[in-house]
Amino acid sequence: MTQASGNSSPQKVTPSRSGPKHIFVTGGVVSSLGKGLTCAALGMLLEQHGMKVAMQKMDPYINVDPGTMNPFQHGEVYVTADGAETDLDLGHYERFTHATVTRDSNYTTGQIYNAVIGKERRGDYLGACIQVIPHITNEIKDGIRNARSDADVIITEIGGTIGDIESLPFIEAIRQFGIEEGRENCLYIHLTLLTYLRAARELKTKPTQQSVGKLREIGIIPDILVCRTEHPMTGEIRSKLSLFCNVEPGAVIEEMDVKNTIYEVPLMLREQGLDQLVLDKLGLVSRVDTPDLSQWRRVVDAAINPDREVTIAVVGKYIDLHDAYKSIYEALDHGGLANRVRVVLKKVNSDRLDPAELDTLFDGVGGLLIPGGFGERGVEGKIAAARWAADHDVPYFGICLGMQCATIFAARARLGLDDAYSREFDEQCIDPVIDLMPDQKKVTLKGGTMRLGSYPCRVEPDSIAGRAYGQDVVHERHRHRFEYNNAYRERLVGAGLRVTGVFEEADLVEIVELENHSWFVGVQFHPEFQSKPTEPHPLFSSFVAASCHHESREPQPGAEIAR
Ligand code: GLN
Repeated sequence: MTQASGNSSPQKVTPSRSGPKHIFVTGGVVSSLGKGLTCAALGMLLEQHGMKVAMQKMDPYINVDPGTMNPFQHGEVYVTADGAETDLDLGHYERFTHATVTRDSNYTTGQIYNAVIGKERRGDYLGACIQVIPHITNEIKDGIRNARSDADVIITEIGGTIGDIESLPFIEAIRQFGIEEGRENCLYIHLTLLTYLRAARELKTKPTQQSVGKLREIGIIPDILVCRTEHPMTGEIRSKLSLFCNVEPGAVIEEMDVKNTIYEVPLMLREQGLDQLVLDKLGLVSRVDTPDLSQWRRVVDAAINPDREVTIAVVGKYIDLHDAYKSIYEALDHGGLANRVRVVLKKVNSDRLDPAELDTLFDGVGGLLIPGGFGERGVEGKIAAARWAADHDVPYFGICLGMQCATIFAARARLGLDDAYSREFDEQCIDPVIDLMPDQKKVTLKGGTMRLGSYPCRVEPDSIAGRAYGQDVVHERHRHRFEYNNAYRERLVGAGLRVTGVFEEADLVEIVELENHSWFVGVQFHPEFQSKPTEPHPLFSSFVAASCHHESREPQPGAEIAR
């Protein structure tokens, strides 16, 4: 959608000013408060006021990027169009807003120190003693300034929780930033938790008071408190927070847990008046009479009142942590929204997949999705699942490793190449239908060296993907080292695994589809990173539609497809 639609005839114009306004969002009391979501929802609301928004996250961990971190611990690695491997909160930013998210949208302590140490080694500091203040804090401020300069508002989320040792330089840097850029151009929002004591039936404010106290020790007095709470805040609690935390009563905002879908968050924050409060405090004037939230309301309505449900099995090895496949699950939801269907996930751990039990395991599912992954563990389970979907004419969506598994299945089952495999799992592999390209063979460092970011793909119009996209050339994001091996292409195509998408410049296969199957698509890229609730990705919409269709079909006697 064009979220700015409905905002096209500006009524009032924001007074011209020299640079963007900055909003800094910190978190207090506990981690996992949903800071990223709150930032994204605020960004979306400001866009509806006609503002151009940029979004950014500062992560206090020492890894240079999350690319080499274990998804079990950290959740998925979100890939930007320019190929940065970033924190998954950036996915929320892109799903909720139209901000261009780039490598300047995510900085870690590791990156900041890397840059400073690099400069020190080059002699850029002319022999100075390098210290956290000012060298590290200056580097952080430069990072904040690197965010989009043409934006009206830049929202910078500070990862971690106030009181953590790791986040101190970031907090100090944003304090300095307010002095340098002018307090009127900077807004500090503190997201906190009101703890509910069931025995006392009371919301407690003390942890929030202490968290704000910590912020004030550094010299930041929050302008706005956003309070996550399970129970509505009373007037008394609001006054108490205001008094003890030195925040105006009107700037104490309640953020209740949402009941149905995270896409309710912006609507709820608007009801609480957060958007207007932010504009007023930053001296910005809305460019519209009333923000148009109708499209967003339609999304929420479709999520709450679906016409039906469809079960989709997701087969992967990081199944136990929801965040590890965050964008996949979101994109499936979006595909559901497009069809007014609730997608019910059946999470299947590929490690424990017994090929003999697939009939029972997948009984009644509408479709199978195999997401990306690394390493050999669980791969045979995924290949077996691809084969099962092919043989039973069940919709199959293979993403990255899921596409590679589909190719391995086809080579083994349709070409009789029993040893077909990926070079990733066996260097001596006899039939490496998935292999390393020459440039990847030279790579010695793991971090940031895969095929990363957006590449064009020419799509065959007369194919499932072509019909879904309705475009000849699409741009999709990548994150992988291994590729479909063209040495097997002719034979695989001859055996019914069509090539329906290609990165022409390097003649790399990007999309494969199985002939004589209702919906069997493997993509080497990650379409999930470009799906929004308001603009569901066409492949996900098409896959969910096919899965619904399959689930509605009467069981066919002898449904197994002849090979
Ligand atoms: N491990 C595979 C590769 O590196 C697939 C990566 C992925 O699924 N993102 O090519």
